[in-house]
This record gives sequence, structure tokens and C-alpha cells, in this order.
Amino acid sequence: MGNKALLNEAEIIAYLNRVMDSTFARFIMKKLSQPKSISKSLAIYAGVEEAEGVKEKVHAKVVATAIEKGAAALGVEPPAIKNFLKDPYIRKGFSVIIRGIAEYGITKPQRLSAPFLVVWNFTKECNLRCKHCYACATPHPAPDELTLEEKMEVVDQLDEAGVAAISFSGGEPLMNKHLLPVAEHASSRGFYLSVATNGTLITPKMAKRMKNAGIRYAEVSIDGPTAEIHDAFRGVKGAFDRTIAGLKNAKDAGLTVGIATTATHHNIDVMAEMLELGRMLQVDRIIVFSFVPTGRGREIVKEDLGPEEREDLMNYLYREWQKGDMQIVTTSPCYARISLSNALRNAGAKISPTHFAELDLPAEYLEGAKALTEFIGGCGAGRIYCSVEHNGDIQPCVFMPIKLGNVLKDGFQNVWDNSEVLLELRDRNKSDYACSSCPYRYICGGCRARAYAYYGDIKAPDPGCIMQKAEWDKIINRERRIYNEEKVR
Ligand code: SF4
Ligand code: SF4
Repeated sequence: MGNKALLNEAEIIAYLNRVMDSTFARFIMKKLSQPKSISKSLAIYAGVEEAEGVKEKVHAKVVATAIEKGAAALGVEPPAIKNFLKDPYIRKGFSVIIRGIAEYGITKPQRLSAPFLVVWNFTKECNLRCKHCYACATPHPAPDELTLEEKMEVVDQLDEAGVAAISFSGGEPLMNKHLLPVAEHASSRGFYLSVATNGTLITPKMAKRMKNAGIRYAEVSIDGPTAEIHDAFRGVKGAFDRTIAGLKNAKDAGLTVGIATTATHHNIDVMAEMLELGRMLQVDRIIVFSFVPTGRGREIVKEDLGPEEREDLMNYLYREWQKGDMQIVTTSPCYARISLSNALRNAGAKISPTHFAELDLPAEYLEGAKALTEFIGGCGAGRIYCSVEHNGDIQPCVFMPIKLGNVLKDGFQNVWDNSEVLLELRDRNKSDYACSSCPYRYICGGCRARAYAYYGDIKAPDPGCIMQKAEWDKIINRERRIYNEEKVR
């Protein structure tokens, strides 16, 4: 359980699902309603902190009993679980999920008291000009970017809320001089830290500095397996070579590395070569992003994949993932449906219940796979994840430009608990929700950002889904009509 290089929230949830299977455990966890109290009990159990007073001792004992009961059911010995919990990030992850279950019970999909992950668009500044950029990044920082002091406050608020992981994105986060001091501060608070980068600025020296600042994972964007394809998309000649060099430097410095690639008509025919590139570079993960026509991406909406193309791609990626040499996942929530269906008919052993999460269940636990996949729930926007913008604005997802509030002005926890938009996103049973009658609504839920981009409605269909093919056909027919009308004029 604790040996994996890539951290796996799905496993944590699977485990906690069992631990919280007791009314008494839930009662105590609710009592420990501050995320830090649960974290402290876990730290005492793991032997990395001392209990102060009888109350803390009792709580830690109850937590230990519940944890060991759950662990035994999964065949995990207490020393292994204690070792696992020595990592502050794992304790944070456990705490946020425990608190979610204690507060809301087991819901489908699970509702959390704070997001497990926040993607922080740290700056709008970028040195490339990518065609699909959702952030409409610019060569200069935006005038309303946060000061260093304000960025530190964002970290403190996320810590207070119990968020477990922060992914710095952008723009290009490495362009911003505050990145490393902020990462260092966040690392001292126990967050799991990653960077989504174009890789061009990762010199050997920068890679070491990233590692020393506590960044564990570098996800490098590459849109094609050759300089010709990648540079055309990224808008800068020579970007490909610098990106590959940056990825290698990150790997040499000991970071976990991944390739992020956005699937469009531009590169779908070279996906096999992309995977080969990943294998050659020995990356830990390839994550294929589902294109969302938002930001600058609106201008290339015609490059979006249709439902059949997407379905074929997902099935192909799943088969490749089963070869076992690297993790191959996607941001398309239909991958949860496809991976679960494959696993249930023994066509594969792994399930990806949301974006970068991986469930690798032994055959005897496959029975519970559906429940677990429903628990984790496909699209995590506003439920297990959200984004923070360069100016502190909070959005349900980086690809969904809906301002919910601002960390500094409204308070992160307050927005997470009370935003109407977030409450809507957490309910998959509403009759006006396009997926409400789909049997996969808890497993997948559709990419809400794609629904919003195409229809301006977070509850609309995801037109990339094979079950919603009629919606895609309507969009294509409308496009053709507009094209023909323009030709006649
Ligand atoms: S209809 Fe919605 S929940 Fe069902 S598979 Fe499609 S996108 Fe997913
Ligand atoms: S809306 Fe959901 S599925 Fe779409 S990118 Fe955001 S988190 Fe992923």
C-alpha cells in the first residue's frame, strides 16, 4: 500500500470506506471536526507526534482502533499502515475524507468537507502561446496577480480547510518568482505538491530547487511526439527540445514525472507515438486531457473529438495502460466507465475512478469495485477538487470559468461550503441534470466543464459522451448549416 511512487487517493478512499463502517467511529470522527484534530490523531497513531492530554490520547486510540479494523479487513498489517501515515500528505488525505464521511455519511459520489486537490493557476504569465490555452495566458503577469503575502495566505487557508494536495499551474508557474517560496511554505504544511508546466524552464538547477522546495511531481505538457507537431501547437519553434530536456532534468533530480497531452484532431493519429515517447523517456504517467473549448481553446473548437473517436481513444489507452509499464489515465470521466467495465469482465486489472486516480484491486475485491468507483465519482469539479485563479478567485474547475468567490475576500472554506454552484455540482440526481437517468451518473457524471463550454449550463450534456451522441450530431449539423449559409452569402 505504501510503496507506490504515485500517490493514490482512490486507495485511501477504499480503505476509509471500510474504516468508517462503524457508527461509533463516525461519531468520534465528527467530534474531531477540525481537519487538524483528525490529522493529529493520525500522527499520534503513526508515532510522529505525541498526545497532549487525556482527550487527545483517547481520540487517537479510537482512531487507531478504527484504522486497524479497516486495515485488517484489507489484509494490511498495522506496521504498514503506520508507515504509510508517516507522510503528512497521506494524513491530510485521510483526514479530509474521514471528515467528509463523518459530516455527510457515505454519499454517491462522495461529498467532502474540503477538496482533496486544489489546482492553483499561480500566474497568467507564460513563455509559450498554446492554441488550446484555457487560461488565455499572456507574456506578462496579470495586473491583479496576488502578492507574495497574499499567496502565503491562500496556502494557510487551504491548510486550515484540510486540502491535501496543491497542483501549481498557470500560465507557466515557473515564470513566477514566488513559486518556490510558496511551495516551500506549503510543503512545511504537509501538502502533496505538483507542478503542471510546459517544462521549458526546468534546467538541472531549477529541477533541484523544485525538489528542495518540496515539489514531488512535475507534469509536463507535450502535444505531439515530434518537434513539428508540438511546436506548431505551442506556437514557439524549439519548444519541443526544451520541453524534453526539462522533463529529463526533472526526472534526474528525482521528481516523479508525467506527460500531459490534450487529445484533439491535431494529434489523435499519433497517440501511439506519444505513448512510445513516454516509454522512451520512462515517465511515470501519461495523462490525456479531454479538450474543453474554453479560453483560447474556443478558437479551435472544430478540433474537438466526437463521441466515437473519444470512445475508441479511451479503449485504446486502457489497453495500453494494462501493459503495466506506466500509468495511462485521462481527464475524461468516461474513462471511469470504460475502465470499470473492462475490469468487471476481466479485460484489465486497473480502474481509474477519476482523472489521475488509480485503483488496482485484487480479484477478491472486484465485487466492490462499482461501489468504490461510484464513491469517487468521475468528474470531481466542486466535489473533490476545485481551482484557484491567479487573483485568488475560486472556480469549480480550471476549465470552468465560473467565479464562485475569492479566497481572500470571501474565505475558502466559506465558499466551499456555501456556493450554490458547488451544491448543484454535487447532486447527480436532479431531474434537470442531463445525466440523471444514466446508469453511469455516479461513476462518470460527464465533464461539467465541457457541458458549460458548449451550452453555458453546468447541468447540460457532455457532448463528448457516446451515450449523448445525438447531442454531438446536433452540434455538428448546426456547424454545417452555418458553414453552408456562409458559403451562399
Ligand atoms: S450520460 Fe453522462 S454519466 Fe452517462 S456516460 Fe454519458 S456523460 Fe457519463
Ligand atoms: S469539469 Fe470535471 S471532468 Fe471536466 S475537467 Fe473539470 S474536473 Fe475534469
